[in-house]
Amino acid sequence: MAEVIVAKTAGFCFGVRRAVDKAFDLASEGGKLYTYGPIIHNDEVVKALSEKGAVVLSTEEELEAVSEGTVILRSHGVSRHVIEMLDKKGTDYVDVTCPFVKRIHDVVYEESAENEIIIIGNPDHPEVEGIRGWCRHDATVISSVDDALEFVGEDGKSFCVVSQTTFNYKKFQEIVEILKKKLYSINIVNTICNATRDHQAEAAEIAEAADIMIVIGDKKSSNSGKLYDICRARCDRTYFIQTLQELEEEGLDTEGADKIGITAGASTPNYIIEEVQKYVRRKL
Ligand code: SF4
Repeated sequence: MAEVIVAKTAGFCFGVRRAVDKAFDLASEGGKLYTYGPIIHNDEVVKALSEKGAVVLSTEEELEAVSEGTVILRSHGVSRHVIEMLDKKGTDYVDVTCPFVKRIHDVVYEESAENEIIIIGNPDHPEVEGIRGWCRHDATVISSVDDALEFVGEDGKSFCVVSQTTFNYKKFQEIVEILKKKLYSINIVNTICNATRDHQAEAAEIAEAADIMIVIGDKKSSNSGKLYDICRARCDRTYFIQTLQELEEEGLDTEGADKIGITAGASTPNYIIEEVQKYVRRKL
């Protein structure tokens, strides 16, 4: 019978667990509750929270219009001006920005007093938008090796480089090597979260040996997408699903498979991992 290997690092990381637990605790207390953006990139969790009465605010205008209740600022973090706006308005808020993200805010705030900031990450990701919003002047965002090759730094400037916490470590190193050759004065602060690194390393190790790999995560989640890329590069038969239902619909073909690996993005709740695992074992 085929062996099923479930990654030990699969599922919620420390920062996401902390944010989700706090949100459900507050929801159970009653009263008006909002989250600024979905609490995590997982539709199932967002739906469960909305059933408890939490409302997702999508824009800064909506956030500004809140006149009562509590707003949760999620683990991705927000710009400095959002915090200032809430403080000024006296809005009640609970900031569950992951401490690892908060550290990047502190680094760029301090460093941007004298240096130019380069953020390695996806410019459209809310975490990167938040980090950008702590720089005292506009930062450059580099998301690929091509971006790094094209980048021209102003002569005589010093640079500080940070990364989105969920960025792929290998790609980060490649980009940093290119930047080091181009820029005279550069301070690299590796801000990739250990949870992400461990997660990616374990997924790579399992995928290398697996005949089939299943990555569970929301397609909107950056770290789930990266896990999928890592697994797909090592295992042709890699499935990317959000729920057990999606796997059932896609049809899991276990023919000729001796090892089936399962991992899940940092925003995937445990119960979904359990369901998928049980289903896979039943199929064997
Ligand atoms: S991946 Fe790391 S930085 Fe991001 S929320 Fe989780 S623990 Fe925090």
